[in-house]
Amino acid sequence: MPEDGLLDHALVRLDEAATHISIDPDVIEKLKYARETTKVRLMIRMDDGSRKSFLAWRCRYDDTRGPTKGGIRFHPNSTADEVETLAFWMTFKCAVMNLPYGGGKGAVQVDPRKLSKAELERLSRAYIQAFARIIGPDRDIPAPDVYTNSMIMGWMADEYAQIVGEAVPAVITGKPIALGGSLGRGDATARGGYYLVRHLAEDLGLHQIMRVAIQGFGNAGQHIARLLAADGHKIVAVSDSEGAVRSDAGLHVDMLIDAKAAGRSVAGTIGQGGHEFLSADDLVAVDCDLLVPAALENMIDEKNAGSVKAKLVLELANGPVTPEADDILARSGAVILPDILANAGGVTVSYFEWVQNRQGFYWTVDEIHGRLRTIMEREGRAIWNVAKEKKVSVRTAAYVHALGRLAEAIEAHGTQSFFTS
Ligand code: NAD
Repeated sequence: MPEDGLLDHALVRLDEAATHISIDPDVIEKLKYARETTKVRLMIRMDDGSRKSFLAWRCRYDDTRGPTKGGIRFHPNSTADEVETLAFWMTFKCAVMNLPYGGGKGAVQVDPRKLSKAELERLSRAYIQAFARIIGPDRDIPAPDVYTNSMIMGWMADEYAQIVGEAVPAVITGKPIALGGSLGRGDATARGGYYLVRHLAEDLGLHQIMRVAIQGFGNAGQHIARLLAADGHKIVAVSDSEGAVRSDAGLHVDMLIDAKAAGRSVAGTIGQGGHEFLSADDLVAVDCDLLVPAALENMIDEKNAGSVKAKLVLELANGPVTPEADDILARSGAVILPDILANAGGVTVSYFEWVQNRQGFYWTVDEIHGRLRTIMEREGRAIWNVAKEKKVSVRTAAYVHALGRLAEAIEAHGTQSFFTS
């Protein structure tokens, strides 16, 4: 759950990485603070005629390597600290993948499930009205995140076009295909993680058939379930914000996806096809080979990390494991494929979308998958090698890998540059 001190937690990983690489302390100092975070209050008209206001933020954490890039989250618990932390992670994620971007993020403090579709559209448009001067295809490029989707990105791209007087599809990624979205963006986050696990399977000593537990069953969770099940792996447990289900014989993934599409919880399938009740809190403790956190931050902490049985954790969510839980899992011999690598498929295909928008020439889904796979395998292998060579966790190796690139760019701007000031 988002809570104050999230950025402090994230910076622990930066300090740890800095001990494994020779680096100018000024670089670390620069990366400890967001460059700019703008807070506004969005006021919209509700369907009943009343007016309601919502806090919203946009953070451009670091733009040394290019325009800032990062999703917009709609969540009742969002805070400025959470937005800055997510933007910090984006800075490192883009550097991990060698994308020509810095890190950004945005949020609105709202429970979108309590809004009508028209209210949601007015709120999405109000966000762009407030931040149109900050975003732009060469400045800051939003995308979807928790509880936002391609429909919302479409409204936002439309609002931006109306404000500037022309279509600028490269200002936002994750758009509907009809508005310049990319093929393959829908499942890109999960697919990137899937390619990574497949590529490192031998190094990780994975079984032919894995038993998999997935926490969170939205975009990332549903697609990873589908991809792994198609390869014959058994999805033995899944959860969402309202409940969880388990089946040692393997859950019916299509049934779960249909339930979500119909607006129901995965728990609504209990009693069908051998699906059994599971407490959502017990999901992380399920006996399995692979645990996939695909919900929110800090879900695996010092209280429940000791109960994790999986020997591999694929972090599709951002920041799901606290630093204390990291230590507990490491002592138990578990390997964590960290968020800034494992879920970077999403921003990578967002980058492909931006490239296609700018060149006005669109790739096939096979081209998208092939390019994504190449980058995931290349950066995954490089990070794996750093981990082996320096005898550090994959997470620390990923930070070391990204830090080297960030330091090179910060230094290349020149010591008197505005960027490095
Ligand atoms: P989503 O809104 O599609 O799904 C979120 C899911 O988490 C929902 O099923 C929700 O019910 C569930 N959830 C919420 N609270 C929960 C709880 N307490 N226990 C169990 N489940 C809970 O969001 P998403 O896009 O799938 O994002 C999930 C995570 O992946 C986030 O951390 C996000 O930042 C990260 N991520 C997403 C993308 C992307 O492209 N969508 C890219 C990179 C990282």
